[in-house]
Amino acid sequence: MKKNYSPWLHQLSDNRVHERLQADIETNVAIVGAGIAGISTAFFVLKHTNKDVVLIDRFKLAHGATGHNAGYVASYFERGFSSLVEEFGLSLATAGQKEVEDAWELLDEMYTEAGLSIPFSRFIGHAGLSTTDQVWLHLENNFARREGGLTTEKITIARSVSFLKQIPEKYSGLYKIAPHTDILSVLETDVQNYIALLSYQKGCINSALFCEQVLLYLSRTYPKRFRLYEHTPIDKVVLKHDHAILDGGSYTITTDKVVLCTNGFESIKIFNESGLDVDTKFHHLVRGAIGYMSGYLEKMNKPPTAISYITDAPIHVDDPYAEEPYFYLTRRVYEYEKGTHHNLISIGGPELRLDDRTPYSPDSDFPDEMMQKIDSFVKKTYDTEPNKKIEYQFTWHGLMGYTRNGVRLVGMEPKNKVLMYNLGCNGIGILPSVCGGKRIADIVGGATLGPSIFDVPVK
Ligand SMILES: Cc1cc2nc3c(=O)[nH]c(=O)nc-3n(C[C@H](O)[C@H](O)[C@H](O)COP(=O)(O)OP(=O)(O)OC[C@H]3O[C@@H](n4cnc5c(N)ncnc54)[C@H](O)[C@@H]3O)c2cc1C
Repeated sequence: MKKNYSPWLHQLSDNRVHERLQADIETNVAIVGAGIAGISTAFFVLKHTNKDVVLIDRFKLAHGATGHNAGYVASYFERGFSSLVEEFGLSLATAGQKEVEDAWELLDEMYTEAGLSIPFSRFIGHAGLSTTDQVWLHLENNFARREGGLTTEKITIARSVSFLKQIPEKYSGLYKIAPHTDILSVLETDVQNYIALLSYQKGCINSALFCEQVLLYLSRTYPKRFRLYEHTPIDKVVLKHDHAILDGGSYTITTDKVVLCTNGFESIKIFNESGLDVDTKFHHLVRGAIGYMSGYLEKMNKPPTAISYITDAPIHVDDPYAEEPYFYLTRRVYEYEKGTHHNLISIGGPELRLDDRTPYSPDSDFPDEMMQKIDSFVKKTYDTEPNKKIEYQFTWHGLMGYTRNGVRLVGMEPKNKVLMYNLGCNGIGILPSVCGGKRIADIVGGATLGPSIFDVPVK
């Protein structure tokens, strides 16, 4: 059995001091959860308001999903844009999608202001589609994007497919035709199943290292207004009408606002003095799933990329032996030891759903069946050199909090506005966490925001 060890945590500093909460304290804004959502929320609240901010983590900064993801920067939701339009209408869905796409600029703003130099590559990434239904779905998504005035994704369909003549006129201008071999070449595979290609702006970053570096910047820039407390689990949040009290074990934090950036599926108990049950609702808003990934090093002889392979298997995430509906792969420059440079290939896909409130243990080993799934996918699709034995330096898993509709929850709890959320990792969460942080800062700063797809449901 292999351990849970990610390439992102491997690059964090060994000698940072981890301060615990050691007295009762008061603050204006307490942020629970120091992953990319917590650190982005702290960044924008500190930048755009004069509030004091305390960031708290039950373990260590960026050791949750942020330290166990694929580090793949993407702006899509794990559901098609057209289904967002169905649920929210064209105007709200477009505004929500645009907010996530604009988070590229917010990420740049954080990177530049913090004076970072860690690798952050950007390129056009690709997804290979393998069934006619998948092609229809993405044509419809692209159609809805055009209707909403968003930049359309580039869709390329193999000249050899049998359904070319059946593509409705309304999709014209939304796709290109190309030889099948061109599509396979972009996907860097010989597997003939992939008949179409979806291409859009993507990137790669170590989001844990990013958080660590932004933390140093925040500590330097706001020494009087900002504090991080690690190894401080918050078990209870007591909501009063104009403040909250957080139970941090031996000590408490009294705060005007509390923002949960806890990913979602965590054992926090919420007591609301108004009597309406926020706690039960909160725990039903998100369900957990474990995502599994592996990574290996190879010579640095190809440029960074991100490729998803959407297979023709049905979606069935709660059976560890089921075939995976998709795999995703990134290739990026990676420094395993100081001064050495390799390409790191990381591959994910297998997921396992957790029941409501089932605890997730980050210390559990990496299951052999997930290892085999990833290894056989890589050898069949990407690294196809005959008889090659791949040495995986890293195997890791992480918790994903999925909201009911796959859209991150950002904003005030309608039953008590002292409580706010920026959570629900939903598979793709780096950019949504960042724009969620800006949205929270706007609300804390007194802005009145119109309705959005990220709003917390009233019921
Ligand atoms: C396997 C995997 C692959 C992924 N791939 C991608 C990807 O390629 N691209 C992408 O954009 N997104 C990806 N994601 C999702 C992305 O990583 C997350 O959406 C993002 O990191 C979430 O950040 P977060 O800050 O909301 O949560 P986290 O990073 O999980 O942070 C939550 C923090 O809250 C703390 N916490 C929880 N409860 C308490 C408590 N009671 N008291 C104190 N602290 C508490 C935890 O210790 C943790 O540090 C992936 C996720 C996984 C698991």
